[in-house]
Amino acid sequence: MTDTFFGHVIDGEEVASIDGKTFDVWNPWSQEVFAQAAEGGPEDADRAVTSARRAFDEGPWPRMGRAERAGHLHALADLMEARADELATLDSTNMGKPFAQAKHDVGRSVWNFRFFADHQRDHVGEVYPMDSGHHSYSEYGPAGVVAAISPWNFPLMMATWKAAPAIAWGNTCVIKPSEDTPASVTMLGRLAVEAGLPPGVLNVLNGHGAPAGSSLTADERVDRVTFTGSSQTGRLVMASAATHLAPVSLELGGKGANIVFDDADLDNAVHWAVESIFRNSGQVCLAGSRLFVQSGIREEFLARFTAAAEALTIGDPFDPATKFSSLASKRHFDKVASYVEGVGDDGGTLLTGGVDETGRWLVRPTIVTGLPLTAPAYCEEIFGPVCVVNTFDSEDEVVALANDTRYGLNAMLFTENLSRAHRVSSRLRAGTVWVNCFFIRDLRTPFGGVGDSGVGREGGDFSREFFTEPKAVVMQISR
Ligand code: NAD
Repeated sequence: MTDTFFGHVIDGEEVASIDGKTFDVWNPWSQEVFAQAAEGGPEDADRAVTSARRAFDEGPWPRMGRAERAGHLHALADLMEARADELATLDSTNMGKPFAQAKHDVGRSVWNFRFFADHQRDHVGEVYPMDSGHHSYSEYGPAGVVAAISPWNFPLMMATWKAAPAIAWGNTCVIKPSEDTPASVTMLGRLAVEAGLPPGVLNVLNGHGAPAGSSLTADERVDRVTFTGSSQTGRLVMASAATHLAPVSLELGGKGANIVFDDADLDNAVHWAVESIFRNSGQVCLAGSRLFVQSGIREEFLARFTAAAEALTIGDPFDPATKFSSLASKRHFDKVASYVEGVGDDGGTLLTGGVDETGRWLVRPTIVTGLPLTAPAYCEEIFGPVCVVNTFDSEDEVVALANDTRYGLNAMLFTENLSRAHRVSSRLRAGTVWVNCFFIRDLRTPFGGVGDSGVGREGGDFSREFFTEPKAVVMQISR
């Protein structure tokens, strides 16, 4: 179809909803509706799962050789690379992120396919020689049909982070993108068809969390549910999948601690403090949203951090100078603005930033000091460009402060003292700790969170564990 209508991609075809329902697709910078998307209901979800089930039970995909499957995934990655500008344009238009950042996300999405294409080809199983006259080995067979439910903050990247490993290991999948950002994922579905993936291997179901997403998680023909989104929705997804005992992988919210010690390289620490909370307008699960700065460098660090935040060029996502833009939707703007507006009542001070007064869905890069540890803006995930700052004196104190959260997705620390870096990172309760950097990822490493930040890990062998059914084969070799 077209870029003014985003249908479902089911069984190798782009289709409208069975009842013909659609919903508005917004451009948050211009605050205009630029397209319609098919609004999936239970019957559309049924159709998508039926397609994925048939492709798994009867189609060539799970039975194909690993190298051949890798070839298909690289062909899709090639096509994505060739159409990178279109994919990035859809994400910038639909979500409001600066085009250069959207282009970067497309690159990472391409890598998701390439990495898992090769990983499944090369990590076939383990051999366990036995001394009893037997020989054992493990095999990793596909699990079946995967439901992959993704959020709006990195529309293409998050969906491919789920779908690429799922199909690489021979599963078939149904992706349910966020209703706020259906555009780029629908185009991914179209490209999968164009790249020659067998029908039903990669389906896209558009629509709202309920009923589209919830119909997928409740369908007993679904063998795995991989979900990225809020902790609240994660609970619903897990409960729904539990009714038919489908394993879940949940990548949920965060309230990342960013710790700056007084021996840090301040230029580097300021650079990453800005990136971690203001990139993507702060709509990043891994955001460094709680900043802890050691008392002795407080004034200097905050002066530099504030100046760097104020230097970010705010504007149209398609202006090459733009580093920071609007929030992704009116609903999300209202949520972030209400946290910022509550800061004063809770005793906090805005060092810079605040809600834009021009009518855009924009909250400027915001730095807050002086909030009590119980204030909503301090302890809840805002998911916007709001950094709350606190000071500390000792390692023990900052570890306790950093770990004092229901979340545990990630933390960062900045120090030039190697022993301290090891000591503190091992004490932080988080799925990922970055030392003197942020956002860098090797896709072989485990990714996920503790507490309200998630269940399970994905990445490399961790994705293999989740998306396959490992099997042990024990063979008598001497009698
Ligand atoms: P959300 O939970 O509102 O929605 C996520 C997805 O779930 C959407 O596709 C939505 O339609 C679907 N959904 C909603 N209700 C559902 C239900 N009952 N059953 C099945 N699916 C349902 O989250 P969001 O607002 O789209 O995304 C923001 C959240 O995602 C933040 O909390 C952020 O921290 C988190 N996030 C986490 C990671 C990570 O890797 N841990 C990455 C990106 C975003």
